[in-house]
Amino acid sequence: MSKWFLLILIIVFSACGSKTARETAKTTIPQSPSPEEIYPKNIILMIGDGMGIAQISASIYLKKGKHSLENFPVVGLQKTHSGNNLVTDSAAGATAIACGIKTFNDAVGVDMDTLPVQSILELSKEKGLATGIVVTSTVVHATPAAFYAHQSNRYDNEDIALDFMKSEIDFMIGGGKKYFDNRPDDINLYKQLKDKKVNVSSYFEKNIFDLNFFPKNKYVFFTANEDPVGADSGRDYLPYISVVGAKYLKKRGKKGFFMMIEGSQIDWAGHSQNGEKLIYEMSDFEKTIGKILKFAKKDKETLVIVTADHECGGFAINPGSTNEELVPAFTYNMHTADMVPVFAYGPQAELFHGVYDNTDIYQKMKQALQLD
Ligand code: MG
Ligand code: ZN
Repeated sequence: MSKWFLLILIIVFSACGSKTARETAKTTIPQSPSPEEIYPKNIILMIGDGMGIAQISASIYLKKGKHSLENFPVVGLQKTHSGNNLVTDSAAGATAIACGIKTFNDAVGVDMDTLPVQSILELSKEKGLATGIVVTSTVVHATPAAFYAHQSNRYDNEDIALDFMKSEIDFMIGGGKKYFDNRPDDINLYKQLKDKKVNVSSYFEKNIFDLNFFPKNKYVFFTANEDPVGADSGRDYLPYISVVGAKYLKKRGKKGFFMMIEGSQIDWAGHSQNGEKLIYEMSDFEKTIGKILKFAKKDKETLVIVTADHECGGFAINPGSTNEELVPAFTYNMHTADMVPVFAYGPQAELFHGVYDNTDIYQKMKQALQLD
């Protein structure tokens, strides 16, 4: 065999080899990423204030047809206790979820030493995500405040409003106009928002259902001067504006968005031990969950989490109840230390399986959004 023949033979074989490799690469079906590898771009966190398992049960039993919470593939339980009390209040409960720390009752966005702690909303903003809050209380109430304010007393409404001015939230809907434009210190934050080119308006000037939202602008809309009325008195904006907000944030947030939606008054029904009000508020929140779930199903990039900060009223469904009419009972007019459920849908929903602390919800959200 001549040297030349051997050389040709080697060239032919190596050419065949590389051709085979190329063909294999071409014919291999690309592997789609496993669920563990898919991360959400957006998070919509929905908090039913005071919404325990009995409140949810009541809502499910009375619902004709499938309840929106029955469509969630992942359910967990969270321990709600605060840093200084087995029974939390909404301030410490929301701070645990928003900031990942146990703090004392009455504290919003500060730790046991009253030092400010960054919230998941603030971290999202820092990383370039759009942010939004929609509530049925005032916008300075404990639950929303824990996401943007840092105060050791949740009732310092005027100071919380000042913290809001620094927060740069893109979309804010709720009551409490007077904390912005009718303040003891005479500072007009409503006007300051306008000066900052924020599109601010209120129920007094406009109907919330007639508003248009453009992604280049920021929005604040006050639904009431103080607390919005209850769902039993005709308040119906939450389901509508929550989805409008999610669609707006999706357009505004090129890198994604973080949104918190609160059914604020489920808790107030517990405090007043009013079974009828409770059902109205649960129904309003359930409609909102259904609409948000529909948005997330279409979007495919949104993780939806539904939970509570604590139970309220020691609510029970007593004997004699039917699917048409419940016999409600309450053990107390305050919060209880019951664990509350966590429902999750979308990419990384699996993180929310199991039994864990309320503070872990912050860690899981951070992990899901890859904000480290
Ligand atoms: Mg609340
Ligand atoms: Zn409460």
